[in-house]
Amino acid sequence: MGLSSVSRFGAKSAGEAPAAARSFAIDVTESKAVPAFCLSIHASYRCQHAGACCTAGWPIPAEPPLVATLERGGLGQAWTPVRAFDEQPGPDGPLRVLRTQADAACVFYERERHRCAVHRLAGPQVLPVACRNFPRITLTDRRGTFITLSHFCPTAASLLQTDAPLAIVEAPASLSLDGGVEGLDATGVLPPLLRPGMLMDAGGYTAWEKEAIEVLGDRRYSARAALGIIAAATREIHRWEPGGDTLEARVRDRFEHQRRRVSPARPSPPPQEAPIKAFLAAHLFASWHGYQDGGLDAIVHGVDAALATLTRELSRSSFVPAVRAADFLLRHSRADVGPGSLSSLRRH
Ligand code: SF4
Repeated sequence: MGLSSVSRFGAKSAGEAPAAARSFAIDVTESKAVPAFCLSIHASYRCQHAGACCTAGWPIPAEPPLVATLERGGLGQAWTPVRAFDEQPGPDGPLRVLRTQADAACVFYERERHRCAVHRLAGPQVLPVACRNFPRITLTDRRGTFITLSHFCPTAASLLQTDAPLAIVEAPASLSLDGGVEGLDATGVLPPLLRPGMLMDAGGYTAWEKEAIEVLGDRRYSARAALGIIAAATREIHRWEPGGDTLEARVRDRFEHQRRRVSPARPSPPPQEAPIKAFLAAHLFASWHGYQDGGLDAIVHGVDAALATLTRELSRSSFVPAVRAADFLLRHSRADVGPGSLSSLRRH
């Protein structure tokens, strides 16, 4: 069975409908009955209507609930499908997306109000899936639902600058959308690889994430040193074989070993290392790489890439613009992102 997913805001999903200009059919998992987790630093997230997602120029699928609402005049007579929707070429024919305005803002974005007309007139249940979920990046597997955030959203970016301890906590209903949050559905696939030919088990995978987040939350280590500990412990865990200690116990043991081996920096790393490590934690936790790109090593490489990207962006701007630009590149800059998006981000 393969992975199914919703997009990371604006990504296209190849729908099944054969109509000439069809709406998107999105394969989703609604995670109502499973526990949801997030990072402590993200738990207080609430949309502050910054408008970054609504003005990025991303192609947003016109999904059936919104199409039906417009067709029956549910947003008022001024809102017609012709005004609201556009067509873009897709792999199986034209795809229907929300129109954008000349400045790349979504057609429904009410700049004076800093609000969305769909949300205001019809309620959040009619919003496209991508809009309802942004900036959440969600993974659901057999263990539960795991929610991290895209810091392209300036409100999410500002949450990284906190003194609060970094930990994995239960996600509040506001973050899990009352259990309706949607994302990558890995419930029907095998767990991530520990190494080629050997799978993780749930306990081992959970312990690895927890230990790695604890290392990133330890203020005595720089971001680079923390990543070194995580990479070294992960390499040592590779050698685990069933029949002796559990994978969970091996994970704990190897992290402890690496933490003893690497002396904390003296003096302590500068304060700006903490938000950088929080950013890295947000890329390690709920990572899709473990399922999509080959297991634990892929997650570690993904976090390495996140540090390299953020370091580059920090050399040209201050923290919040840098993390926004970094997550734009890491999480949203694929073929499904409008060509004007990066330049408009730079102008903010
Ligand atoms: S539909 Fe609403 S929430 Fe989605 S991008 Fe447009 S204005 Fe923003």
